[in-house]
Amino acid sequence: MGKKIGICRYCNLEKTLINSHIIPKSFYDLKTQGCYTTIDCKKWELDKVHGQNGFKEPLLCAECDNNLGILDRYAKYFLYTQVPNAPLQYAEDLPLIPFYFLGANSFNFTLLRRFFISLLWRACICTTIPVSLGHYEDIALHILKREQIDNENLFIPLIYRKGTNTPADLCITIARYHFLSENCFYFRFPYYEVLMLTDIEACTNKLYVRHLQQLFNRQRIQIYKLMKNTPMDEYFYKSIQIIQKKYYRMSPINMEEK
Ligand SMILES: [Zn+2]
Repeated sequence: MGKKIGICRYCNLEKTLINSHIIPKSFYDLKTQGCYTTIDCKKWELDKVHGQNGFKEPLLCAECDNNLGILDRYAKYFLYTQVPNAPLQYAEDLPLIPFYFLGANSFNFTLLRRFFISLLWRACICTTIPVSLGHYEDIALHILKREQIDNENLFIPLIYRKGTNTPADLCITIARYHFLSENCFYFRFPYYEVLMLTDIEACTNKLYVRHLQQLFNRQRIQIYKLMKNTPMDEYFYKSIQIIQKKYYRMSPINMEEK
């Protein structure tokens, strides 16, 4: 494919555009290619188009892609090195669901927050993914570019780490998802399930909002480890079984990254 000249969605200048990955490629290069499964969120089927190279589109110029790459690199370190090495704890009210706890001094909140906003923003400007943020798209961009004061009630990620030791842990997809009273967005990449809540001010259950705010803020990040399949995994299972049979013979165990 030849080089594409166009308007960079980030700096708004006419430049040579490069293919930007929506979910950072480094997230699924962790282990040999082929271990992960990309799911088409419109049909809940195996995504053969994006299965090889992931979701990518010419959206940004090289400079802006590089700038967002800084966020991607930090997020990779956080999600794949810091979190798995954080102590697993058990809450009194939810003793069966362990969680990783990270205190304020152990993570860079600003980088992480900007990463999740950039992930959401990239997904919503990418034409191959049927998600739209409406007027929140500009807000996300302004916060990313530091043109607007951050509002921490917007774009809150609920991060879950998958620990079922089955191929369901390695799915990749992006979808729209209904949660509470608002639309939110569902990201799936190896070992993680992330729900991005667009605007928690719109939620009427304030007690629950406070609980959600406790999971991701400047002082602490709490990430539940899911040892069993979630309802979303059931959607993926059919696709996963097909790819297991068709493309590789590997034990569903022994897939933990190292
Ligand atoms: Zn640019």
